Amino acid sequence: MSIYLDHAATTPLRREALEQMLPLLTDDYGNPSSVHGPGRRARAALDESRERVATALNSEPREIVFTSGGTEAINLAIKGTAWAGKARGNRLVTSAAEHHAVLHTMRHLEKFGFEIVTLPVDRYGRVDPDQLDAAINDRTILVSLMLANNEVGTIQPMADLVRRVRGHRAVAIHVDAVQAAPYIAIDVRELDVDMLSIAAHKFEGPKGVGALYLRHGTILLPQIQGGTQERYRRAGTENVAGAVGMAAALELSVAERSLVAPRLARLRDRLRDAVLALPNVELTGHPRKRLPGHLSVVARESDGAAVVMNLDLAGIACSTGSACTTGSTEPSHVLTALGYPEEEARGSIRLTLGRTTFEGEVEHAADLIPQTIARLRNATAMVATEI
Ligand code: PLP
Repeated sequence: MSIYLDHAATTPLRREALEQMLPLLTDDYGNPSSVHGPGRRARAALDESRERVATALNSEPREIVFTSGGTEAINLAIKGTAWAGKARGNRLVTSAAEHHAVLHTMRHLEKFGFEIVTLPVDRYGRVDPDQLDAAINDRTILVSLMLANNEVGTIQPMADLVRRVRGHRAVAIHVDAVQAAPYIAIDVRELDVDMLSIAAHKFEGPKGVGALYLRHGTILLPQIQGGTQERYRRAGTENVAGAVGMAAALELSVAERSLVAPRLARLRDRLRDAVLALPNVELTGHPRKRLPGHLSVVARESDGAAVVMNLDLAGIACSTGSACTTGSTEPSHVLTALGYPEEEARGSIRLTLGRTTFEGEVEHAADLIPQTIARLRNATAMVATEI
């Protein structure tokens, strides 16, 4: 039995999305910039996808910029507004628990004279609205925060945070909604943000395609130069099939959310209870305000990487933290930001369920995962006694 519990890393491409993509990869392969029939058919498919994505986010088609994924959307949002706003100010505000796509982009900008304020987070990964308020001064041009954390699943109190930023003049807000998109209703008007990033592969769309919502009127400098595509905001021949697949997957995820999210929360809670029944295992992230299919723990006196490898041999795919930090010996920057010392962060395990996860898989995992952690702890204790 092979069980996939790493949906925060990526999800399988759903069949309905693939079926809608296939004609664009086979018969209707034209370049949307070409004036002939095949080109016009590709253009029509691209335009329709933009409308579908815009509707799902409650925005307008002209406010959607297709990108090569979450990372590119985030880079465009942050670098684009930073460079466009440089004459007004140089301060950019973010939090210590953001994805590297945000943190490393900020670090890059620091080399060019931007001042980066990295706000601390609480034990669950949340930003304090008062601290955010205090970090904004008259040189601040951008605040970038995530809606839900990829490593610990915590959902930010975004409405409160946005309200505090809106108390200041002319500060753009970017939200990294890459993890949140399949599970939290995203209405960009209600959220009152200027930019928001999503990536299709997190909601059963294809890899290598994402979108940036860019509120009409938000000034941004493009980061890829070339043709006039995406209304001059992102040059390069568009990934038409990718855009179609993303639109299909997003629409379905929005339509199914109210059924999928509670079912996943129930299965996640079943798994959580089984794993937390072990001694010295602590939930990381917020106990309630977290993504429905997301379980993350630190198992003390355990090596998370060894647990993940042993589970892989037993047919369960999961991770220690984010996929991007896998293979690295550095402790997760997110757990460090949450205040976990390095030895505890080393025992981190992330189990993330998705729409295609079924009950039998969770039952099997609920047996096997605690057994594996206990067995490895015993083995380590025996080696320690022998030494
Ligand atoms: N932001 C968050 C919160 C993520 O979880 C990820 C991917 O794991 C990204 C950004 C980057 O997205 P992508 O890998 O699609 O570029």
